[in-house]
Amino acid sequence: MSCIIIGASHAGVQAAVNLRAQGYKDSITLINAESVMPYQRPPLSKAFLQDALPEQRLWLRPEAFYQQKDITLMLSTRVVSINATDNSISLENGNSLNYCKLIIATGASIRRLTIPGSELPQIHYLRDHKDTVGIKEQINNIEKVVVIGGGYIGLEAAASMAKLGKKVTLLINSERPLAKSTCTIVSDFFTKLHKSHGIDIKLNTQAKSIEKAAQGVIVNTSDDDALAADAVIVGIGVTPEQSLAENAGLTVENGVCVNEFMRTSNEDIYAIGDCVSFYHPLYKKQVRIESVQNATDQSKTAASAICNQPTPYNATPWFWSDQFDAKLQIAGLSDGYDDTVIREESENSFAVFYFKAKQLIAVDTMNQPKTFMATRKHLTRLVEVDKQLLADTNVNINHVFN
Ligand code: FAD
Repeated sequence: MSCIIIGASHAGVQAAVNLRAQGYKDSITLINAESVMPYQRPPLSKAFLQDALPEQRLWLRPEAFYQQKDITLMLSTRVVSINATDNSISLENGNSLNYCKLIIATGASIRRLTIPGSELPQIHYLRDHKDTVGIKEQINNIEKVVVIGGGYIGLEAAASMAKLGKKVTLLINSERPLAKSTCTIVSDFFTKLHKSHGIDIKLNTQAKSIEKAAQGVIVNTSDDDALAADAVIVGIGVTPEQSLAENAGLTVENGVCVNEFMRTSNEDIYAIGDCVSFYHPLYKKQVRIESVQNATDQSKTAASAICNQPTPYNATPWFWSDQFDAKLQIAGLSDGYDDTVIREESENSFAVFYFKAKQLIAVDTMNQPKTFMATRKHLTRLVEVDKQLLADTNVNINHVFN
């Protein structure tokens, strides 16, 4: 009874680890299109981009681990189709492999710019190891950088470039950074932080076209600026990598649809991580979550189901972002909130609690790890919390929930 896992990143590698930990005795094949050892993605826009993390520290597991656990790791190997009728997959090199159980952990792909000049070599993205290495190889020739995108990747890339001494302009096409994922208080904190490090933030501004210049490029913006840049880094979101599943006839809708055991519409095929759309029992809605936590926890659920110990998925979502010396930690899903409570220890250390219909649904903490940990622990269900106690920094956060 062989298990094949397509995609060897946070979700896929951890699925292989969990299968072995749960006693799976048969063969496990972990396939990845990328050529490098499976690695952690978050440092690609943070420490690794800043050259503050050596290559091997990126690896999810040391090379010997896969051998020790009898996991066959096939790198530089792309799966081109899943044949769900005969339980086989086809590889780009023409070979095919049979499976008893298949796990799709294909993640997400970057959204690319489509404006004139989008193909110029000075334009970079940040999704894969090779993207970050590509920027690092150019870093000594880069003085001015235009970053396009006001989400986490754009902000982290801008912070890393500023830390490396580059002159950074950040183009954000909404009225504030992180407009889709957090409240004004957190956005304003980051706006101020980035400006204090010399980053020029242009809000409500889009890149309209990019032209080759005598040196580098010129980025033409919607407010008629012409910004000279040696490099452009783009972080405008991702889309789920669902084409294999879709072509195999599995149900997809903003991701591969799975049930509470991470099983797709085919009983032998599971899907986990960024590529998955699922019903979250706590928030009672269909979601697709892009985070290490989600990839890691879903791998455990899929492995349990394959090992005949099915346990429904109900993990609380959490996420983090590091920018300069600020650590944002998020637990829960805040969209749809109707009230907030602030717990502020100082300008640089605060938490925003999000409520919906009186129930606490999420928290964003800035440099407040204890508040994050305590709240996350209690966000396994939606409860009413005394808002006055929550705001009072003299009250131990753990006592608020008791
Ligand atoms: P992915 O990591 O996308 O991996 C999918 C793998 O599948 C890829 O290696 C891909 O090459 C392979 N693949 C796809 N199709 C095929 C195929 N047909 N054949 C073979 N292989 C295939 N999350 C956080 O929680 N905190 C952070 O601070 C954070 N920072 C981030 C910074 C950056 C720059 C990026 C890019 C992401 C960050 N994330 C962060 C998000 C987090 O990294 C993702 O949620 C996580 O990587 C998802 O893991 P995954 O295994 O589902 O997919």
